[in-house]
Amino acid sequence: MNSEEVVRQAQQAGVELVEFLFVDNSGTIRGKLTHVDHLAGRMVGGIGLTPAMMAMNLLDQLQPVPEMGPVGEVRLMPDPDSFRILPYQPRVASMMCDLLALDHAPWSACPRSFLKSVVQQAATMGLQVRTTYEDEFTLAQADEEGTYHPMDEALCFSSIAMDAGNPIILDIVSALKAQGIQPEQYYPELGHGQHELSISPTDPLTAADNQVRYRETVRAVAKRHGLVASFAPKPFADEAGNGAHIHFSLWDEAGQKNLFWDFADPHHLSELGYQFAAGILHHLPGLVALTCPSVNSYRRLRPQSWSSAFTAFGPDNREAAVRIASIFWGNEEKSINMELKASDSSANPYLAIGAVIAAGLDGIRQAWRPTATVEVDPAALTEEQRERLHIQRLPGSLAEALDVLETNSFFREALGDLRLRSFMAVKRSEQAAFAQAEDAFEFKHHFYKF
Ligand code: GLU
Ligand code: MG
Repeated sequence: MNSEEVVRQAQQAGVELVEFLFVDNSGTIRGKLTHVDHLAGRMVGGIGLTPAMMAMNLLDQLQPVPEMGPVGEVRLMPDPDSFRILPYQPRVASMMCDLLALDHAPWSACPRSFLKSVVQQAATMGLQVRTTYEDEFTLAQADEEGTYHPMDEALCFSSIAMDAGNPIILDIVSALKAQGIQPEQYYPELGHGQHELSISPTDPLTAADNQVRYRETVRAVAKRHGLVASFAPKPFADEAGNGAHIHFSLWDEAGQKNLFWDFADPHHLSELGYQFAAGILHHLPGLVALTCPSVNSYRRLRPQSWSSAFTAFGPDNREAAVRIASIFWGNEEKSINMELKASDSSANPYLAIGAVIAAGLDGIRQAWRPTATVEVDPAALTEEQRERLHIQRLPGSLAEALDVLETNSFFREALGDLRLRSFMAVKRSEQAAFAQAEDAFEFKHHFYKF
């Protein structure tokens, strides 16, 4: 779609305000809005933004990054292809934005431009990536004191939970469809008030944009039903965590052939697939700082929580960080894909998906291979057995994950100096802020912000 078409569609639909959205280093979705009468100009010039927004943490505390202070400006430049009229908010539309420097080039801290550059790298290797987030979320109510409680106490996959959830889920499904996002499967998950609604894979940029739309849509629809939806990795101390597993496969340049498919392999996974998985597993202890980047994330990433706590790899192993998903009968070749379980919705999806692909491509370049496929719960193995299989415990806290990321030269190179430095500053400050506070403060802030 071009800019003229965006303006025409907005006017025709009676849109008044258009959101220009981006995701900051804390994983918060933020933006500014233009009135439709100024949209044509804004499509060319963008909307001005202080660079300080990329140094703001989850508590709106500005971190000292020299390039991100009170002086300077970047531009929120919308991608016309991402234009959507919001089905849940009359007279409002939204677009996803790149952050451009005043010389019109992508700003060196822009997350969306980072993902684009990784997609470009894959293309130079003759590869297309198909990916999607698979989100879990919690529907809850706030009491008079502002404390959140799950909307019900129904069981996993239970029809009672379906009955309670269906009015909301149906509105979410319709709203996603109206934004060009294809729902695939729905079920009530294990946690009280927890639901999982999967959507179809797309190219990586659309997948990251979809994750933003998905979070926005679920939250807004739930609100209109008098509920609060939360994607917090661990919404309640004693309930299942909310995962946002990343599914991925590699395709040929024409997007016709799934390059993960190999009939002859016992798991039907190609050599290229093993290499891509090996890259992710190799870099995973640092990568989780980007895919599970909140303090709250590490309450979820614990052994025997089905969320993955080890750098393990296995077919249909739900305790493995990278799972080979078994193929769909009747659609074998096209359906082979893998899933990264060490991922949640507190991530900036552009940084997370970009870093996952970059790590996988590194595995291909180095021709690595996972040491072994693991067909048991890695927590059930002895330390020695895990060591022999090169299975490591993932970082147990955000602080540990950041320590690994900071010293990982691969990610320093891939992300670039300002992107990594500002991310580290924001995340270190969150670590420090929540470490000083009570658990309830952490739960509350993550519950409400994600
Ligand atoms: N809730 C689990 C997680 O935190 C995932 C459960 C499952 O779908 O296997 O990732
Ligand atoms: Mg699930």
